[in-house]
Amino acid sequence: MSIKIIPQEQLEQQATNSVIRQIPLLFYPSPKTLYAHRAERLKTLANNNPISDYLNFCAIIAEQQANLIKHQPIDIDVTCLLNSEYPPLSLDNLPLKDTWQDYFTPLLDSFSDTTQQIAIVIEQLKKNSTLELQNKALHLLKGEFDKVDGNEAIFIWSSLSVYYCQLASQIKSKAIAENTDKLWLCPVCNSMPTASIIQLGGNNGLRYLHCSLCESEWYVPRIKCTCCDNMKDIQYLSLEKELAAIKTECCDACHSYLKIFDQDKDPHIEVIADDIASLILDIKTEEEGFAKSGVNPFIFAQ
Ligand SMILES: [Zn+2]
Ligand SMILES: [Zn+2]
Repeated sequence: MSIKIIPQEQLEQQATNSVIRQIPLLFYPSPKTLYAHRAERLKTLANNNPISDYLNFCAIIAEQQANLIKHQPIDIDVTCLLNSEYPPLSLDNLPLKDTWQDYFTPLLDSFSDTTQQIAIVIEQLKKNSTLELQNKALHLLKGEFDKVDGNEAIFIWSSLSVYYCQLASQIKSKAIAENTDKLWLCPVCNSMPTASIIQLGGNNGLRYLHCSLCESEWYVPRIKCTCCDNMKDIQYLSLEKELAAIKTECCDACHSYLKIFDQDKDPHIEVIADDIASLILDIKTEEEGFAKSGVNPFIFAQ
């Protein structure tokens, strides 16, 4: 891992590259506002969108995630996880306990009045034992997405995210960079990104990857494939004009792509919500022969 999180007291002792050190490498999430903001954005995007029903479904989940953080917060001292060669919240460093399941039943219960299709998924999920749910969660955290039904995965991942996001927000430490290669997995929890974001103002157009699980954002240089580090022949596709706020960054070396969102061009962008709402751009990019190198918590392909 090239971005490494170390305890504060060690930070001063590290001789790090002075240029890289000037750049904020990592932003931990703000769970108290993140999900409520996402729910609002999903509802806005649902107006005039061909997949508005789906965006409204995702908004209900995000609203419940916000409620869970408000009413069932967790406070765990994660300092002991920082002295490790692994990312602090990775499975290698922090075995999965079933605490996340405290969020699972309330999340399912937020759909009291819903479509028959969703009701069937929820009914199936409620029949799972703690152990069965634990196994499904472990498959997802290991990236074995084909081992879990895609509809079930959305509810499991959303509950896991409420847990991991809070833990990530409680890390009181900074990150250092050893180099800028191999940055495709989250330095906090080792999960795949959803997309890249150029944050609104403040960071001089720097690009960050947004974690699909713990919602942290980490720095990756621009015009570089986030999957294989290739810097040649990177091309950008968009649905509108050249200066569009949403593009796909496509790599000719490994034929992968990931979306890049520019908040300077549209300050309302929220990575997860806008990634779903721009599904048509995924379809167009895949038609050009590229495969997505990220995960959206609301879209698990089978
Ligand atoms: Zn993460
Ligand atoms: Zn590549």
